[in-house]
Amino acid sequence: MIAAMPELPEVEVTRRSFADRIAGAQVLAVRLGAPLRWPLGCQPAVLLGRSVGAVTRRGKYLWLPLAPAGPEPRAHRAGGLLLHLGMSGSLAFTEAAALEPAGKHDHFDLVTSRGTLRLTDPRRFGAVVWSPSLDVAPAATLLARLGAEPFDEGLTPLGFHAALRPRRTAVKAALLAGDIVVGAGNIYACEALFDAGIDPRLRCCKVSRPRAERLLASVRSTLGRALELGGSSLRDFRDTHGSDGAYQLEARVYGRAGLPCLRCGAVVRRIVQAQRSTFFCPGCQKR
Ligand SMILES: [Zn+2]
Repeated sequence: MIAAMPELPEVEVTRRSFADRIAGAQVLAVRLGAPLRWPLGCQPAVLLGRSVGAVTRRGKYLWLPLAPAGPEPRAHRAGGLLLHLGMSGSLAFTEAAALEPAGKHDHFDLVTSRGTLRLTDPRRFGAVVWSPSLDVAPAATLLARLGAEPFDEGLTPLGFHAALRPRRTAVKAALLAGDIVVGAGNIYACEALFDAGIDPRLRCCKVSRPRAERLLASVRSTLGRALELGGSSLRDFRDTHGSDGAYQLEARVYGRAGLPCLRCGAVVRRIVQAQRSTFFCPGCQKR
């Protein structure tokens, strides 16, 4: 199986698996393991006694608001943690009785009154970063270049087409870049382009308005289906209940190079675009 990063559906499935369980919990302790992609950005003691609010997601980042307890001294203002799973991270929320001692790949524990949120990340490209809010640095800086959320109604077919038109890059690269719409990581970009019948090498500026509309619908349906199924079943991904996702079982071109297309029977091809594998059907997907 091809190892791949946790993508937006996996992150959202993760969020849904613990957001309700951790809401209202009080932070009792913090354990830091080996350094992650970026430093925490505050003394761990700053987090103690705070209560966890409603966990939200933006792109592949999760935001855990941490409200200060009692009256607010200057050093204990509002704030929260911005979490990213990087290349190989996963989050598990476990009640105290079931928590195992931290292993060598467990690099962050947020111990709360309702259980422990633990980041496991063998490759350590993940991050847990303190920020005073989402609107100021460092959170605002990290989120600044993200495109629209895929299910945001503000992203219209017309707007999507207008964003593609000035670009000369391949349409798949534009999806992966995530600065028009977030969420179409490698597997989902391949599947959405197959669904829309668009050759991944087609330049953005050559995508007609009807095809742009079709592609946006395909991005939405592909991500929507992945969310229903619990994300991709990829080697390093586990949601916080420790179960595999199921999306990869449904992939129609991703990981199927050399096999017959499930729709037309042509041989699915694998090419490399921007150092990432692209899978497509030359029969179904046209320039
Ligand atoms: Zn085909």
